[in-house]
Amino acid sequence: MASGAEKQTDRMEKIVSLCKRRGFIFQSSEIYGGLNGAWDYGPLGAELKRNVKEHWWRSMTQLRDDIVGLDGAILMNRAVWKASGHEETFNDPMVDCKECKGRFRADQVESTPCPRKPSRSVKECEHEKTEPRAFNLMFRTHAGAIETDDSLVYLRPETAQAIFVQFKNILDTSRQKLPFGIAQIGKAFRNEINPRNFTFRSREFEQMELEYFCRAEDGLRLTDEWLENRLKWYESVGIPRSKIHILDVPEDKLAHYSKKTYDLEYEFPFGIQELEGVAYRTDFDLGTHQKHSGKSLEYFDEETKQRFVPHVVEPSAGVDRTVLALLCESYDEEEVADDKGNKETRVVLRFKPSVAPIKAAIFPLLKNKPELVAKAKEITSALRQEFRVFYDDSGAIGRRYRRQDEVGTPFCITVDFETLEGDKATGAKDTVTIRERDSMTQRRVPITELSSFIASALK
Ligand code: ATP
Repeated sequence: MASGAEKQTDRMEKIVSLCKRRGFIFQSSEIYGGLNGAWDYGPLGAELKRNVKEHWWRSMTQLRDDIVGLDGAILMNRAVWKASGHEETFNDPMVDCKECKGRFRADQVESTPCPRKPSRSVKECEHEKTEPRAFNLMFRTHAGAIETDDSLVYLRPETAQAIFVQFKNILDTSRQKLPFGIAQIGKAFRNEINPRNFTFRSREFEQMELEYFCRAEDGLRLTDEWLENRLKWYESVGIPRSKIHILDVPEDKLAHYSKKTYDLEYEFPFGIQELEGVAYRTDFDLGTHQKHSGKSLEYFDEETKQRFVPHVVEPSAGVDRTVLALLCESYDEEEVADDKGNKETRVVLRFKPSVAPIKAAIFPLLKNKPELVAKAKEITSALRQEFRVFYDDSGAIGRRYRRQDEVGTPFCITVDFETLEGDKATGAKDTVTIRERDSMTQRRVPITELSSFIASALK
């Protein structure tokens, strides 16, 4: 019998294979052998990822009036990274194996497989390793035609710094009062020593970061509030609290500027790993940029007439890790009977309708009946104005259902003869069947009610 760990590895392999087979996630530059740590989101993956980002953006900037958005540049003045401490300290400890020349994160040798013999870890390999040394994770490039030290720029390793350095401009133009937040979604780059676990640890990824500025006395309370808030958000996209482990980072492990940090960790098939960090970063970030830039980043409180550098609470989440958690959470297999009563395994992604890449698939019962095809296409065109829908007329209806189950489409709408000739029970024309993904039950609905039916499921 397969052990728990084997089952989980097996599950992960199935998820990775489904992602490729159905167009969620591909290896970057695959036809040239790929590029380690870089991934492309295919047609369905791109939709899923957009839905995750839109949910986050809406929950932050639309549903609250105390948070505004920013879309900052990836390239920034190098001085930003000097001031933030990234140039000096954004390092991971690295060791080299003197035999195979492989490079590994010194703090992960126990969990990193040996490239020569993957069944054992790098730690178990008998060959000599170098002493650990610091490896800076920032990608370097040059702005302009001359490659000198002066033209050196980095691809940002986090989105947050643009928020800190634009704090004053945003404060002046949005006229927010403390406490208030600035939210941003965007690409970040880290030259990870060992990218692994599919998209979990990539070299190019996306972050959803909020910097919530406040008074010093509110920092700890707001950190707890944001933790709660973020757990609710994960629940709203389909990751239950019971699957999220909250790590209250012990004091001796906190970054020197942080007074409190919670790591939200998800039970991935490859282990319990970080999805998001919620950190109370005090006034370190604004304080350090004020010092290095010589520009005031203070807030003026009109009531108390006090001027001070605000503190900040940062919930920082990974888009790719959230997408991966959603894929892992929603992947399911169940035994069902096919059209002829034979048992088969149904693979289903049980996405919440609001994050599902396709909201409804529309089928004519038979492909060779022009009246059915025309009606199904007419419904598709109408629904397309409001939702991401998909028309499919190839293969037996059962196979079409299975294909949609596998990509998580919550509803399949079938146009059949009763649509044209009238419902057997009531005689009403222009009704279709809606088959629900999870229960596989079907019911007849008037075409005129389809849009409101789908819309109510997305709430
Ligand atoms: P880890 O300890 O896993 O390297 P971290 O603590 O360095 O993560 P942060 O700097 O707090 O991560 O970044 C915030 C979020 O950005 C993480 O919680 C994660 O969701 C995401 N993230 C960070 N690094 C990566 C990466 N290499 N690939 C994908 N997502 C990442």
